[in-house]
Amino acid sequence: MQTSILIIYTGGTIGMVQRPEDGSLSPVNFDELLKEVPMLNKFGFLIDSVSFDPVLDSSNITPEIWYDLAGVIEKNYQKYDGFVVLHGTDTMAYSASALSFMFENLDKPVVFTGSQLPIGTLRTDGKENLITAVEIAAAKINGKAIVPEVCIYFDSKLYRGNRTSKVDSQQFRAFDSKNYPPLARAGVEISYNTEYVNYTTNKGVFSVNYKLNTNVVLLKIFPGIRESVLESIIGIEGLQGIVLESYGSGNVPQLEWFTRLIKKAVDKGIVVLNISQCAGGKVEQGRYETSVDMKKIGVISGFDMTSEAAITKMMFLLGHELQLSEVGRYLSQNLKGEITA
Ligand code: ASP
Repeated sequence: MQTSILIIYTGGTIGMVQRPEDGSLSPVNFDELLKEVPMLNKFGFLIDSVSFDPVLDSSNITPEIWYDLAGVIEKNYQKYDGFVVLHGTDTMAYSASALSFMFENLDKPVVFTGSQLPIGTLRTDGKENLITAVEIAAAKINGKAIVPEVCIYFDSKLYRGNRTSKVDSQQFRAFDSKNYPPLARAGVEISYNTEYVNYTTNKGVFSVNYKLNTNVVLLKIFPGIRESVLESIIGIEGLQGIVLESYGSGNVPQLEWFTRLIKKAVDKGIVVLNISQCAGGKVEQGRYETSVDMKKIGVISGFDMTSEAAITKMMFLLGHELQLSEVGRYLSQNLKGEITA
């Protein structure tokens, strides 16, 4: 049977042109974009496409857009062998992380890609990214997808989506995944690191979980952070979760008010998750004196999760009617390959 791929265009630089009025970049429609890559036909795949309307700069992505995107994949799941999502780079790692948690029993590739230069420009990185993303989405071995995961393909590397962060706004290497090896590298050939791909056995029927709870905050601490700032955050009406971006291996300032307020949050039933500001390495609460209190008062360790994975995982878990203790337990457990077990 002919391999079939659905390309879902949400927007992003890959499909942008300069507006004559002020020179700023804004997204164009999908037909314009596809005209730039007629060589896609050479694969001999059935390639269909759908476009968001309106198409978006990914800075405008919201959880409702994740629902729409997941809905398009759910609706077309049986019809296609793989999916390529064209998406702006700014929030691509958030979207890929969110979808990785929302999807249950995924056994087909969902490959996000985009570009740093619009596809219509001479030196664009968009053509290579799109063409290789399609090839990866179609790749099979013994009739099964080689990478049945939500991933990001960019500048010759394929990463697990929920392990990836945007690290550069100027270079073609826009993404990195410090705590997990690439799932594939594209050179003369595409070489897959299958030992790092998640092939969960005994999968059931693919489904999507549409419940995300956005009563959460991502708080990066810094030397000089004021008590009133933390106090205001903890006082936010309805707040249910705080992802605390701490220093190094999970360290925070040893200030009486800092510990007292975080404890107050935990006592109020706000889930506090500790992840590191460092892109590589992991949180180890208790390793330094400066994280002992966090462990004692019930702050949860997020180990080596990215911020993008941490905040979307928290939205996902708080979206379900779980006991607080269960939310805490799942947060520090590996659900979709986001934490090194
Ligand atoms: N602002 C753009 C976006 O995220 C940047 C990009 O696509 O690279 O949509």
